[in-house]
Amino acid sequence: MLPAHLGQSPAMPLPIVIIGNGPSGICLSYLLSGNIPYVKRNAVHPNPILQRKLEESSNLSILDQDIEYLSEGLEGRSSSPVALLFDTLLRPDTDFGGTSDSVLAWWHQPERAVPHLVLGKNLPGGAWHSIEGSMFTLSQGDWMGLPGLPFKDWLSKKKRGFRNNRATAGDIVQYYQYYVAKNGLKKNFLCGTFVTSVKRLSTDSGYSGQDSRDDGSVWNFSEQQQDDCKTDHGSLFQVEGVVTTLSGSQPFSLYADNVVLATGTYDSPSRLGVKGERLPFVHHSLSALEEAVKKKEIGPMSDPILIVGAGLTAADAILFAHHCNIPVIHAFRRKVNDPALIFNQLPKTMYPEYHKVHQMMKEQAVSHPGPYGCYVSLPEHHIVSFTEDQKCIFRDKSHRQKIHNISMAFVLIGSNPNLSYLPNNGVDLAIDCEQPVSSKRNPVDVDPFTYESVHEKGLYAMGPLAGDNFVRFVQGGALAIASSVLKNVNKNPP
Ligand SMILES: Cc1cc2nc3c(=O)[nH]c(=O)nc-3n(C[C@H](O)[C@H](O)[C@H](O)COP(=O)(O)OP(=O)(O)OC[C@H]3O[C@@H](n4cnc5c(N)ncnc54)[C@H](O)[C@@H]3O)c2cc1C
Repeated sequence: MLPAHLGQSPAMPLPIVIIGNGPSGICLSYLLSGNIPYVKRNAVHPNPILQRKLEESSNLSILDQDIEYLSEGLEGRSSSPVALLFDTLLRPDTDFGGTSDSVLAWWHQPERAVPHLVLGKNLPGGAWHSIEGSMFTLSQGDWMGLPGLPFKDWLSKKKRGFRNNRATAGDIVQYYQYYVAKNGLKKNFLCGTFVTSVKRLSTDSGYSGQDSRDDGSVWNFSEQQQDDCKTDHGSLFQVEGVVTTLSGSQPFSLYADNVVLATGTYDSPSRLGVKGERLPFVHHSLSALEEAVKKKEIGPMSDPILIVGAGLTAADAILFAHHCNIPVIHAFRRKVNDPALIFNQLPKTMYPEYHKVHQMMKEQAVSHPGPYGCYVSLPEHHIVSFTEDQKCIFRDKSHRQKIHNISMAFVLIGSNPNLSYLPNNGVDLAIDCEQPVSSKRNPVDVDPFTYESVHEKGLYAMGPLAGDNFVRFVQGGALAIASSVLKNVNKNPP
């Protein structure tokens, strides 16, 4: 039998369905569950202009105010004005090293809750489930917290603390699950649900943007389907997928007035696109390395493993292999001193482990063997191909080819969103509608103050899909969407 909610008819659509149950989906569910932010009585925000604006409507919740006006002129480490607004209300002086409490008080107003469902493949926590539990965050631990329940308070209750102000991925996953349970959000979460299709049924013209003139829009149902699903509602989305429960897997289909895309960008690892990349000894995730060590498929006496890439995941893989005494060949395209390398941007005192990797990359080139046994650095090298007899062919900067025996390869060069559940893989929703969606180069094109797609009314995107790459800033998207949805459903407006 399908879990409750999943056997819905088009005559009874849900106001909102969120796809993805990571920090983005969790934070939005908190706001839509009737948790309404007001400025605390007597709180003084350190930004005098913002403080003055907050005083103008101190009886109104932030969700009911003009968030474009409030966020105007704010500056910080995000390009999203609403992300900066919510962050500075939650962590007023954090960029100056302060630890001031949030100026927000959260009132639970159940009458303002908007019914919604959060769909996700795994347990709540998103990408944090696929990060090795002992890994430390790049961000300060405090910045991993969600509204109303500071992460450091939860951690101190567990009698644990930060290291160098950073938290472990294992603690973060536990905190997110606790957050969902503690705030009574569990009833909105349907874990084990994998969404395979989102389509729009429209009684009007289809796309509201440029493509709305295209009758054959990939987003629209066929005429027959539209007739089958006609309701009083102007426009509906149909969300289909597969739900897995203890009794097995079965398809589901549900209908919603609004859909939020919060599926992150970590589901589809980037590929080199070279010959032999599909051979069974070539992998594209750090967890495959951990698994291979656990199963003793590789060890100190094996041929070296190859790690490709010069980002933090590649660095984590090197540290892990180093810890297990597994020999490593490390190939990457850039020069070791390239200012764009992430290691050249991280302060040494906060990230000693990554600086150790950077030092190894500099000192252990194959032409100048250095102090780190079991590790060889190949800067400015490209992978040409992998062969069936477990060899890798490289090309150096002088276009000379080299060949090395390897036991396994781990290609860790980033990842892309998997939007295969959207028509045309969501390309039509991106800023550049000719290119695939990418968090850094080509996010989903959303209105900056509502996070609604500029191409599809009722469709929202948040988190890395909308260009907000850090947990600290994905929360602004939640504020924008909740404010927009509440204004649209007109729930007890002030
Ligand atoms: C190795 C690593 C280290 C990081 N370190 C930091 C850090 O230090 N600080 C920081 O702020 N951020 C960090 N991040 C980024 C952080 O993980 C993201 O900003 C955050 O998780 C984004 O949240 P989200 O909810 O938008 O997406 P995600 O956390 O990616 O969650 C999306 C969820 O949706 C699910 N999903 C995808 N497709 C479907 C589908 N079709 N049907 C159902 N479910 C689906 C996914 O499986 C996933 O569980 C790191 C990321 C990685 C990979």
